Amino acid sequence: MLLGLSGLHVESVERTDASMTVTVSTPWQLMGCPDCGVVAPSRGRRRRVLHDVPHGDARVRVVWRQRFWRCPEAACGRGSFAEHVPVLVAARGSITTRAVAWAIGQLRREHATIAGLARRLAVSWWALWRAVRPELERLAGDESRFAGVTSLGVDEHVWHHGDLRTKGPKELTGMVDLTRDEQGKVRARLLDLVPGRSKKAYADWLEARGADFRAGIGVAALDPFGGYKAAIDDQLADTVAVLDAFHVVKLGTAVVDEVRRRVQQDTTGHRGRKGDPLLGIQTILRAGAENLTDNQWARLTRAIEANEAHEEVFLAWQCAQDLRAAYRTSDLAEGRRRAEKVLATFHTCPIPEVARLGRTLRRWRDAFLAYFTTGRANNGPTEAVNGLIELHRRLARGYRNRDNYRLACSSPPAGSRPDPHQIGEEPLKRASECSHSRARSRGRCCSMMLIPASSTTSSTRSGSSSTLAAPGSRSSTRTLRCTSN
Ligand SMILES: [Zn+2]
Repeated sequence: MLLGLSGLHVESVERTDASMTVTVSTPWQLMGCPDCGVVAPSRGRRRRVLHDVPHGDARVRVVWRQRFWRCPEAACGRGSFAEHVPVLVAARGSITTRAVAWAIGQLRREHATIAGLARRLAVSWWALWRAVRPELERLAGDESRFAGVTSLGVDEHVWHHGDLRTKGPKELTGMVDLTRDEQGKVRARLLDLVPGRSKKAYADWLEARGADFRAGIGVAALDPFGGYKAAIDDQLADTVAVLDAFHVVKLGTAVVDEVRRRVQQDTTGHRGRKGDPLLGIQTILRAGAENLTDNQWARLTRAIEANEAHEEVFLAWQCAQDLRAAYRTSDLAEGRRRAEKVLATFHTCPIPEVARLGRTLRRWRDAFLAYFTTGRANNGPTEAVNGLIELHRRLARGYRNRDNYRLACSSPPAGSRPDPHQIGEEPLKRASECSHSRARSRGRCCSMMLIPASSTTSSTRSGSSSTLAAPGSRSSTRTLRCTSN
């Protein structure tokens, strides 16, 4: 029962269906006064009821028969003093040390909430938080978790939707360790959360980590947000910045959506209504060409052929597919060649939205192309970590205190024990729920977009997408099925 608590003697165990009570005590020992060292006579024992790790559904209480002594020395001001057994419980604590460790494990690995754990231990929220907080603070203050980081991801994270005046900035900047382990797998860990979404937030954090940490960072992945890029340029001079593949693909998909809405307005004078051909294909346009079924291809063809003006939508879609294909190619050199073609052609495209995307990508040229020279470094695991801490926040029904939130979300050092924020490389393909707050706030789900997995599965279709019309040329041959054979 109380394995690992050496020096404690179990006097009795009482069990009912709903609870278990374990009475423990320490064996007799000669005790000297902690102040003056004079041998102190016993003042007897007092029962102290502690909350321990639940055993199945049963609540476990540890009744500790705590010893008391009294210093007999008249000149010593000590008076009575109590026994301390830190392996059992912290001074003045009501939750056993073991239960505190259990609660932190549940918090970290199982996304349990303080409220839920407090219920299981039959203590108040505050009693449990007071017990776990010092340990969480110790873990958060442990700088050893920053050791050995060679690849760093950054992303913003919206932590509340409340009043800015009382809760401060909505956004937090989250730093994630994207370093690969010996097996080449990314073990993403949340390193820290700092308030704000700005160059300053990231740059200050990098500054505070010290020169050794900064010198160790070889690759830094980021979203197309200029502030973070400026912080990387500022603080990480020798680091390769990599624009996140997922966000680039998302920009392409957003362009298709914009063109579709504009053409819809131009041709009908109103937003898409039920039965409008362009509205009918809006989800098809977000998908990858290689994922479309024959039926979807037929719907796409019908909708595009319904009106000559719809050709522009199709061309924009082809451009987005070109962008996507660069990432999906299994051969990195070929991918880079395609990405360079995108950079060379998009900005001259007569479709204004595509041209704007082309200009954006040219501004991010080095970071965009770095994906192909850094072995597909990307921010996917950062987004996954973001999703997990968001899940955590939702389960807890939000946090009122930013520091508590940061403490509850922080990760232990690398290689310690499996933790909730360790995500392998494989689940990078988006799950059905989009974890990205910005995408959600725009009402778009990421599920149709693909972070390139390490292996390109459907090479038969994606491989041939190079036969799509060049993005610059509007006079494309209208062979909608060209990508499928
Ligand atoms: Zn004394």
